[in-house]
Amino acid sequence: MWKEWKIVPSGRFVALTFDDGFADNYEEAFPLVQKCGAKMTIFLAPENSAVRALSANQIQTMQQSGLVEFGSHTLSHSNLTSLDDSAAQHEIRASMDAAARLTGHACRCFAYPFGRFEEKHMQMVRESSMRSARKSESVPGRKLTRWLFRASV
Ligand SMILES: [Zn+2]
Repeated sequence: MWKEWKIVPSGRFVALTFDDGFADNYEEAFPLVQKCGAKMTIFLAPENSAVRALSANQIQTMQQSGLVEFGSHTLSHSNLTSLDDSAAQHEIRASMDAAARLTGHACRCFAYPFGRFEEKHMQMVRESSMRSARKSESVPGRKLTRWLFRASV
């Protein structure tokens, strides 16, 4: 997964991230984030039928709060290393496009399902993100090169 961050040189911070786009992100986590004034990032896999997913309205409500950023987690929650390049490219690009459509903002972050990826997938994500930024409102020229390795809880 990667994301652009403002690094606080001597500070400590926690990033709250949620994968898969479960509806309970809205029902349970979002009220807590609102209460605490924290921010969180949710990675959507819009064609993953195995989960009770966030609705478009829930996504838009959270987006408009300014407390939630949405990223992509492929279309169908696929292990990219098990796909050929064309299918992997589609999973990445189409999911970033879908996230941008749902939120009205460029999709700037991506989480690899199962944490599985190869170098070529990183390049596909970079290209798709820049493409998403060009197609959306975006902040021109923002670089998307930060990486975050996460701990599951
Ligand atoms: Zn996942």
